[in-house]
Parts: sequence; structure tokens; C-alpha cells
Amino acid sequence: MDDNNLTEKADQNEITCKNCSAKLTFKPGTHSLNCEFCGTLNEIEVDEEKRREANEEIDYEKFIRNQVNLAPKLEVSTIRCDSCGATTTFDPKIVSEQCDFCGSPLAVKTCATSSVIVPKALLPFKVEKNAGKELFEKWLKSLWFAPNALKKYARAGRLSGVYIPYWTYDSDTETNYRGERGIDYEESYTDSDGETQTRTKTRWSSVYGRVQDIFDDILVVASKSLPIKYVDALEPWSLNQLVPFDVKFLSGFKAERYQVDLKDGFDTAKVKMDVTIRNSIRRDIGGDHQRISSTDTSYNDVTFKHILLPIWISAYKFNKKTFRFMINGDTGEVKGERPWSWVKITFTILIVVAIIAAIVYYANQSS
Ligand SMILES: [Zn+2]
Ligand SMILES: [Zn+2]
Repeated sequence: MDDNNLTEKADQNEITCKNCSAKLTFKPGTHSLNCEFCGTLNEIEVDEEKRREANEEIDYEKFIRNQVNLAPKLEVSTIRCDSCGATTTFDPKIVSEQCDFCGSPLAVKTCATSSVIVPKALLPFKVEKNAGKELFEKWLKSLWFAPNALKKYARAGRLSGVYIPYWTYDSDTETNYRGERGIDYEESYTDSDGETQTRTKTRWSSVYGRVQDIFDDILVVASKSLPIKYVDALEPWSLNQLVPFDVKFLSGFKAERYQVDLKDGFDTAKVKMDVTIRNSIRRDIGGDHQRISSTDTSYNDVTFKHILLPIWISAYKFNKKTFRFMINGDTGEVKGERPWSWVKITFTILIVVAIIAAIVYYANQSS
């Protein structure tokens, strides 16, 4: 199988204005490229056939067996950060001196061409950069005990729009389980004073059974460069508004290359599904208490999609530590890591201690 047939060249410089031939950038909230020179909106045409395909799931087992045939590749210029390993597409229009994921300085010599699996679909940015900056500032103002230097940083507003790679999985699952059902009952006893009292006890009995759970679009982030806890908290996404992948949407933005492969991604998806499966088992066991001793799950009809989701990111270094702030580029949901100002905290504690000391002092004086 010749891999080259499927390798398409993505030259992002080719995207020019239909009116004045200036280079274009994608305008969030639209499906168009905006010309900064003449103001013309150049609509990105999406044909319905492709839109249908973009939402189609791919058979997981089949894909694992014949990966090469099914995965069109794309040649793109990429830049890799030596500090955190994040690899993003490199767009000459958006030169950054710092890594968007960790804030470390970037050397342009790390720019390379690499071949990547083309995502099936992407969710275009809806939140514009200025709106993102405002959300960032608002979030920072809401933080207690944040260092002043951070507020200054927010005003500078270094935000990057990055499409983050995700896998989504569907599966019908069947789980056989063994466990125990606990039923509470009241027991009477005589206490040391000779009085009759009651206490609650639990009677356990062995149970086994089978539960079925159907999963649709379990999202797994395929990036290792962002704190998972915060990325997961950015959900939900408007997954019903995915559009077929087109490099035009990337114009003026970056896309991160996936670091988690399809199989590892599925392992993470299983962990997420397990939470739901265990809840189903508990419901199935019933009674007042449940214990699960073993489970055996079969994952049937597994399908997946490889998609890109839009995130505004800001990575700031503070006292040699990296803190990251993220905005869901679809809904505007804000999540972030934050530094604490120990000066402010210590000062506040001292004031509180002083007030308490004063109250105690005057209370003693008046008595
Ligand atoms: Zn133009
Ligand atoms: Zn980095």
C-alpha cells in the first residue's frame, strides 16, 4: 500500500482573498475567512456529502487492522517544544516566541515537516480573541489572593487559539458481574441499664447478573500538553456542529498533533465508561448497600472519530512554575490553574490574628 497516494500537501499560504488576494484568517463565529485588508468575507464551502461523512463513525476493529488504508495523511509544517513536547502546526503568520502550552521560549529551528492522520472533523472557533481576553481578565479578577503580576499579565492578554486533538468513542457494552446485596434490619438488644434498644445491622447476600450500557461520543483528549483535569472540565462541546476537516479553518490558528494514539485513547475511554457501568451494577443489585467483587465487560460495536476542538490557551510562567488558563472556544467556559500570592495570604492572616488578639484583649479589660 503506497502511503503517498493519501498524502495531501497543506499549503496554508495558498488561502488568499477572492477580492484582493491578501492572506486570510478564519473568523470565529462564522464559517468564513476574513480579509483584514478589504473586509471581504470568504465563505468556506462545505458540501453536504462531506458534512455527512464528517459525522460518520469509523469501525474501531477494522481500523486497527488496516490502519494505513483508512487513514489519509496530511503533510504539515510543525513546531515542537523541547520543554513539554507539544507539537503544533506552524503557521508563518502567527509566529510565537513562547510555547502556548508551557510558556517556555521556542526556537524556530525545531520546525519540521511531518505527516499526520487527518482529523475527520473539527468544531470551528466561536469565541473571538477579544472576547477571550475579556473572559481571562474577568476570571483573574474573581481570584482571591492572586499575585498582582498576574493581573498585569492578563492585561497583556497573550492568548493562542489552538485546535486540540480528541478521540471520541461509541460502544455497546455488556457486563457480567458478581457482588453482594446488603439489606438493613433493626435488631433489639438490652443495654447496660437493662433498657431495650434497637440498632441497625446489614445482612449481605451473594448476587450476580448482567447489565447493558450504550455509550455515545465518549471524549478523550489526545493531547498530553494540557492538564487533563481542566480540559475535561471544559465539556460539554457542541458535537452536533462538527464540520468536515478543512485547513482553511486553521488559518490564523494552530492545531496540536495528537500524542495519545487510538488504542491508548480507548483505554482511557474504558475508564470513563467504567464509572457509568459500576453505577448500573449498583442499581441492578439494589438493596440498601452494594458490593461489587468482579466485573467482565465486553465492548461491542466500537466506533470512533478523530476530531479537533477549539481552545484558547494562555500559559504563564510565575516563580518558575507554569500555570495554564483555558477557554472553551465553542462555549466560552473558563478553566485554569492559578498561583497564590503568599504575601497577600500572610498579610491577611496577620490582620485576622491581630483583630482576634484585640477582641480578646478588650474582652479581658471589660470583665
Ligand atoms: Zn481582501
Ligand atoms: Zn512547551
